[in-house]
Order: sequence, then structure tokens, then C-alpha cells
Amino acid sequence: MSRIWVLGAGQLGQMLKHAGMPLNLDVQPVDIESEETFPLQAHEQVTAEREQWPETAATRQLASHPAFVNLQTFPILADRFTQKSLIDELGLATSPWQLVRTNTQADSLHDKLGERVLLKRRTGGYDGRGQHWLREPGLDAIPEGWHEEAIAEQAIDFDEEMSVVGVRGADGQCFFYPLTLNLHVNGILLGSVAPLARLAHLQQKAEQMLAKLMNHLDYVGVMAMECFRVGDDLLVNELAPRVHNSGHWTQAGANISQFEAHLRAVAKLPLVQPCVKNTSLMVNLVGTERQEAWLTVPGAELYWYGKEVRPGRKVGHINFSLDAHPQTKAALDTLQPLLPAHYGEVLDWLRSQLD
Ligand code: ATP
Ligand code: MG
Ligand code: MG
Repeated sequence: MSRIWVLGAGQLGQMLKHAGMPLNLDVQPVDIESEETFPLQAHEQVTAEREQWPETAATRQLASHPAFVNLQTFPILADRFTQKSLIDELGLATSPWQLVRTNTQADSLHDKLGERVLLKRRTGGYDGRGQHWLREPGLDAIPEGWHEEAIAEQAIDFDEEMSVVGVRGADGQCFFYPLTLNLHVNGILLGSVAPLARLAHLQQKAEQMLAKLMNHLDYVGVMAMECFRVGDDLLVNELAPRVHNSGHWTQAGANISQFEAHLRAVAKLPLVQPCVKNTSLMVNLVGTERQEAWLTVPGAELYWYGKEVRPGRKVGHINFSLDAHPQTKAALDTLQPLLPAHYGEVLDWLRSQLD
């Protein structure tokens, strides 16, 4: 049995471990806070479930291992300044942006980027954290400590948000899942649907964009590209050099999940085009207590992360991949009373994608 070490032991690491079992891969997620040392062997591969990590005995050991896959990619994508610079360098469309410099004033950002400007911390932000809107020219101020530490982006009036998850093997071959349509509320992903026939005409464009990035980085494994759709244009919002929340539906909706695809690439096992089954859905469980009753919903596939429940924290997700849309809608109707009332918006949105 070959062993793969994962830098990080959150839900993504755990789901990689789960996906490794049928492949005869012993996947070992490692807590980034650990001060232990681990019995890493020279021939064993190391991957990561996150793009940034603190300096601890564990992260020093894993990140200095000669077989740490994509080592050079992480610092580029973990910093929004270098990430956006790379997107520009490759000529890919993205929201107009600039670095917030020591002497940058809010008004100059409004002058260059427009009335609504989104400041994003260069590092560490996720689920909409580390963001600050400037919406009132003349009254806005850049928060204390954000100079040199944030970028400013023009607000995009997008039609919708989508993502594409791709995988690249060590031989350079790339495969892609169909575009996923995503609903984010207050910066946090709440629901995904894929595939949708009405998005198929954008697939090739999305694949070419992500392939360009992965090839440039000589990347190995799964990468996700989040996009804004504006008409038939795709603007890159951000990139994740890892398995991604918007690819969780592949656990139910494809013969090879994104977790398996990543492991196959890292372990140099054969990679093939995943077969996608039905239109699948994912509902993220955010800050909600676990309900055993979810298990009674027809077709529901629950992944509970075993984390302490806190407001705004992703604690699990439920996938559906049923044969027919009426069945899926009926399952969402059954699920609805088992979730907090504010989930009505997410479930309505998901149902509307199946019309
Ligand atoms: P994630 O959890 O996906 O890593 P994040 O905190 O890193 O999220 P972004 O993906 O950059 O942050 O932004 C979160 C959400 O905020 C986006 O999904 C989108 O809904 C909104 N958003 C981000 N940038 C813009 C923009 N330039 N214009 C309009 N909305 C935006
Ligand atoms: Mg992000
Ligand atoms: Mg995002």
C-alpha cells in the first residue's frame, strides 16, 4: 500500500483519506499545528489540502520533503497579489484590480475601479472573510493595517457564479468536470449544481483557461477556478490549488470524485475522463447542528465533518445525484423542514436550476 501525506487535516484531508481507501492508498492527513515529526519515507508523496500554513514542526517537515507536489505553486496562489498578477500575465479575464499601497487612498480606488470596490486581504481569507466593501465614495476609508496587505477589486455585476474543477497528471494530460453553478451568500458557498445543459457552451472556454494556468504552473492534481459569468464571458474570480468545495458533488455525480482524481494524479495512477452521471446537487451545511433525520431523505448522501458547530462554519454537506429532476425536487422538499428556515433561499435556487 503506498502512502500519501496531506498537509492539513480538515474536511478536505479527511475526504482525501476516504477516497484513498478503495485505491489501496494510505492517505495520512497531518494537522498543521502539530509539533510531532512523522515517519515520512523518501519515496512517499506529499500533497496539501490548503494553500497556506503556519510554521510548525509538521509543516516544516512535510513542506521540505522532496516529493511535495506543487511546492512552487502554493506561494503564488496563496497571495491574491501574485495570483491576480499571474492571471493578468496569462491574459485571462478577471475583475480590474490593484494592490492597495502604503499611500493608496479610498478615493483613488473609486476613481480607478468605480463606485463599488471590494478590498480583499492578500492572504488567509476564505468564505468571504478578510473582505471589506468600499461603497460610499467620499466617505470610505481603507481599514487600519490593510495597506500593502490587500488588493482592491472592481465590483462585478455578474449574471451568476460558476467554477470548473480540473485535474492534471504529471505527464501534462488534463481532464475536467463539467462547469458547476454555485450560489454564494455573503461570500460563503451554500449550494452547487452540475452539470447544466445551458452552461455547456461555456465549457470549452473554461477548460482552456484552467488548462493554461495548470500548464504554466506545471501543476499536478486537482485545481479549481472560480468564475463570474457575465453574458458569455468568464472572468476568473480566484483559483484554488487543491480539491474544492464546489467539486464536492462529484462524490455522488461522477465515477471518479475530485478527491480520487487528485490522489490518482499525485500517486501517478492512471487518469481518465471522469464519467458524470446525472445532474447533481450539493447543499453546504453551515453552522447547523447535525440532524439524524437528514438520513431519511431519499437520495441524500451526507458528509458530516465532525467539527464543532459555530455560526458561519462549514460543518458538512449533502449531495444528491438522482435520475430525474422531479425526484431531486421532491428530495429537496423533504429536506427543507429539516434545515433552518434561511435555507429556503438555497433550496429554492437549487429547485429553480432544475426547471
Ligand atoms: P472562498 O471561500 O471561495 O475561498 P474567498 O473568501 O476566498 O472565498 P472570493 O471567492 O474572492 O473570497 O469572494 C467571495 C465571494 O464574494 C464571491 O464568491 C462573490 O460572491 C463575491 N465577490 C468576490 N469578488 C467580487 C467582485 N469583484 N465583485 C462582486 N462580487 C465579488
Ligand atoms: Mg478563496
Ligand atoms: Mg471564492
